[in-house]
Amino acid sequence: MPELPEVETTRCGIAPFIENNTITKVIVRNRSLRWPIPTGLNAKLSQQKILSVTRRAKYLLIETDIGSLIIHLGMSGSLRILSSNEAVEKHDHFELQFKNGVSLRLRDPRRFGCVLWEKDDPQKHKLLINLGPEPLDNVFNAELLFEKSRKRKATIKQFIMDAQIVVGVGNIYASESLFLAGIRPTRPAGKITKQNAKDLTAAIKKILKQAIKQGGTTLKDFRSSDGKPGYFQQKLKVYDRKNEPCIKCNKPIKQITLGQRSSFYCPLCQK
Ligand SMILES: [Zn+2]
Repeated sequence: MPELPEVETTRCGIAPFIENNTITKVIVRNRSLRWPIPTGLNAKLSQQKILSVTRRAKYLLIETDIGSLIIHLGMSGSLRILSSNEAVEKHDHFELQFKNGVSLRLRDPRRFGCVLWEKDDPQKHKLLINLGPEPLDNVFNAELLFEKSRKRKATIKQFIMDAQIVVGVGNIYASESLFLAGIRPTRPAGKITKQNAKDLTAAIKKILKQAIKQGGTTLKDFRSSDGKPGYFQQKLKVYDRKNEPCIKCNKPIKQITLGQRSSFYCPLCQK
């Protein structure tokens, strides 16, 4: 599933090709994504120029003078830049064609993604308005995490994966961040110390920055017609390493299930 770093990598990959570029045609080949792609986009968007491509949580916001497209990649979506005359493939459901002969195509085999239209400020769209801060923004810091965690009985892992607390900390990144911060995923959020909050916010930022940086190295793939999008497997220290030795202390890594998600931790290093 595309996580925040992959979405940011996608944004960096597509923005240079479509910003300041004029749309000539909008093609919808299959409207039935998670929510139906709105009708009338071609009439609205032909001859509109893309002003910017930004990201909020895992949503990509493609802004024009008359409104914004809000795109989510769902479970299996990818966006690619290619020549408009490139053959269309089975799961290419949505496409923006541009004046200079390039297209932005959304491929989504499982169709859990979405393409929505918002004529006003997309940040105020109902899917976005209640989201917590961006993890790499200064607003997300130790004080905020500590304050919000008080009296919370949820486990710290579920707490940091809650998009109202902070966005973009997916299952793998939550496990990795907790390992780096030395906090056991099962600890109630309300029981973390100020020092824990400091270590954990630093760990989340570090892990996500590394992932984005690594994703950047695959940017060239966004141009090739058969290229896979820039998803990547980070070198994981604890996730998916059940019974393998901890890289710090050699104890076998444990696997448990929290909120129906697999969690991995070191029973010695994480308290
Ligand atoms: Zn250990």
